Amino acid sequence: MALIVQKYGGTSVGNPERIKAVAQRVAKYHAQGHQLVVVVSAMSGETNRLIALAKEIQSQPDPRELDVIASTGEQVTIGLTAMALQALGLKARSYTGAQVRILTDSAHTKARILAIDEQRMRADLNAGHIVVVAGFQGVDEAGNITTLGRGGSDTTGVALAAALKADECQIFTDVDGVYTTDPRIVPEARRLERITFEEMLELASLGSKVLQIRSVEFAGKYKVKLRVLSSFSDENSGTLITYEDEKTMEQPIISGIAFNRDEAKITVLGVPDKPGIAYQILGAVADANIDVDVIVQNIGHEGLTDFSFTVNRNEYDKTMQLLQNSVKPKVQARDVIGDRKIAKVSLVGVGMRSHVGIASKMFKTLADESINIQMISTSEIKISVIIDEKYMELAVRALHRAFDLDQVSA
Ligand code: ADP
Ligand code: ASP
Ligand code: MG
Repeated sequence: MALIVQKYGGTSVGNPERIKAVAQRVAKYHAQGHQLVVVVSAMSGETNRLIALAKEIQSQPDPRELDVIASTGEQVTIGLTAMALQALGLKARSYTGAQVRILTDSAHTKARILAIDEQRMRADLNAGHIVVVAGFQGVDEAGNITTLGRGGSDTTGVALAAALKADECQIFTDVDGVYTTDPRIVPEARRLERITFEEMLELASLGSKVLQIRSVEFAGKYKVKLRVLSSFSDENSGTLITYEDEKTMEQPIISGIAFNRDEAKITVLGVPDKPGIAYQILGAVADANIDVDVIVQNIGHEGLTDFSFTVNRNEYDKTMQLLQNSVKPKVQARDVIGDRKIAKVSLVGVGMRSHVGIASKMFKTLADESINIQMISTSEIKISVIIDEKYMELAVRALHRAFDLDQVSA
């Protein structure tokens, strides 16, 4: 007998028929003698609908109240899922995050889990119940409802698995695993049987929305056995996130391609090329609590240089205002210009550590498609480029082909 946490995403619980299918799947595992904790998301589209509703009342919704509203989608699906299980003759009970007591900090709309009380769940499991828990939500010390950021039900699933020391956490979604890239963009993308935790962390942080990044962080910290599977079929065992020593496994050089349109680029033109300028620009941005991602400073010319960086697109206006109003006069910049229509495309693979020539092959592939690279950023296991947003899909397809990701590895 194993203790399994299963998380079902929005499409997997998108209507009553889908919820009944989830109940059937859970019942099958239960019949095999396993204990089950089931985490569910809101029905697909529901969280967007709730947030849009809030914005009809307040264009910049109060974060505490927004969490009160956005968390209700999951409250509906836990009740429905518990009922669907009961209809199959099983004992099932639903809990909101607060009822479990998934304790978080008070950072509304992006709260972090601090502790989970597993006693109530444990007692129910021991009494033969299936426990159904609302994803994406928790409660802070003062009793306020919090949410964990978009896609946060993945994190609830993994965090519960860690707290309960579950044998496995299974993330059921609308694809049958982690692919070489988003199969919606590249139909030839291939499912990976396994992927290292490090690679999954990079892919998630670079934009692959199949798992929320915090769920991957949690899994790594507590070594949760994590698998991504399809809730629509039983055909394969999905993708397993592995923690083995990489040297013991045969690794492809590139495992996957991630992309996102979440960033915007800002360039500060004609600043003096002298010590302290980068600090004056980026220090002001950091003080305003704005995260910076890729940074490039050009070689100086006649005592002047240009400085570019990217921020989240939601923070573009705020950053531009800050730079125009206070930073530009201070650093005597000639101008500040920006571009929202950029995309970041990234190659990820632990094999990069031991292979040279990956970057040049990436740049040649993009050059052959006449795609201009605006910025570059690398780490040990990834290379990212910033390009014009309109070439993003072309770039991803070309790179997928060039690195033979559609071919089954030997
Ligand atoms: P859920 O509602 O189940 O949480 P999500 O929409 O959050 O589902 O995540 C699943 C989606 O992630 C897939 O439908 C797919 O389009 C997208 N995706 C992006 N990158 C990848 C990838 N590398 N592998 C698989 N799916 C990916
Ligand atoms: N319902 C939430 C969202 O849409 C959480 C999730 O689905 O993981 O972001
Ligand atoms: Mg998701």
